[in-house]
Amino acid sequence: MIERLGAPLVEPIFDELAIVGVGLIGSSIARAARRRNAARRIVVADHSVAVLERAKALGLGDVVTDDPARAVRNADCVILCVPVGAYAAVGRVIAPALRPGTIVSDVGSVKSAVISALEAALPGHARLAPAHPVAGTEQSGPDAGFASLFVNRWCILTPPEGADEQAVTKVRAFWEALGSHVEIMGAAHHDLVLAITSHVPHLIAYNIVGTAADLEEVTRSEVIKFSAGGFRDFTRIAASDPTMWRDVFLYNRDAVLEMLGRFSEDLTALQRMIRRGDGDGLFALFTRTRTIRLGIVAEGQETAQPDFGRRAAETDEPVT
Ligand code: NAP
Repeated sequence: MIERLGAPLVEPIFDELAIVGVGLIGSSIARAARRRNAARRIVVADHSVAVLERAKALGLGDVVTDDPARAVRNADCVILCVPVGAYAAVGRVIAPALRPGTIVSDVGSVKSAVISALEAALPGHARLAPAHPVAGTEQSGPDAGFASLFVNRWCILTPPEGADEQAVTKVRAFWEALGSHVEIMGAAHHDLVLAITSHVPHLIAYNIVGTAADLEEVTRSEVIKFSAGGFRDFTRIAASDPTMWRDVFLYNRDAVLEMLGRFSEDLTALQRMIRRGDGDGLFALFTRTRTIRLGIVAEGQETAQPDFGRRAAETDEPVT
């Protein structure tokens, strides 16, 4: 599946876009915004010297700085792309530098906690329009980003009560320009939906890979040699960034625990079916789950190709 961005916009959506945190998501936004002419000027900031050097080398911004406050000074839109646990601190740093009316958005994988942190930190004259692009890979850092990351993926906007409609409309237009489909929902509902579609699956992957790593009866080389039996696909997810995922579980605790409770009950039911030799029960469940996968393929969120069909989509465009 080759995913392509559309032609550059005639009129940019933003005059100056500031991106704070220029890792996988921030650098992909910078690349895509540049490619689509979604902003006249792009300023990127990060606290890591190594990341800033790569951002300069990759030409990710017209200005590259280690000072988030300087980055947002002239921006009409700021997108914060830092780990979930860092939004409060970054919000406090940029708050005094924001011009009245600046749109402040984010890409956090957890919405309720990030919105609370930003509402507490930002001045009343900032226009908060939170977002979560449901697109990513198991990699991190500016070299891992690519312009077509968001094409044909969903971006969920979770405007808080009283959010400025014009700001939300502009942020929607921006994500659509980057190739995303946009859906609007409440932050609490987002956190519950993502707990089951993303957070618990990551936890299961981390757990099964950890269990395999600890097994004494099966050697490490056997685990690697025979990984194509299913384990390999879990290792891809379990290779995801430890900082990002630590924060997701710390800041979406309630929704994750709720979904994990349901998961555990269903796992116990499966365990019972195996113990009782209930082949019909197992067959019925596996038939039902197969249709979910077919539905995801039918909606264009995945290809039917083996190996998740991911490679073609991700190597479609050069890294810069
Ligand atoms: P990433 O590749 O690790 O990038 C995050 C960047 O932010 C890093 O360069 C990090 O530098 C920098 N940073 C951290 N704290 C900072 C601070 N206080 N000030 C300035 N820069 C700071 O992570 P990512 O995958 O792009 O994730 C960023 C956000 O996107 C997270 O909120 C995540 O929940 C969300 N998200 C991720 C995905 C995904 O699949 N990865 C998908 C959708 C949304 P250091 O590494 O040096 O600390």
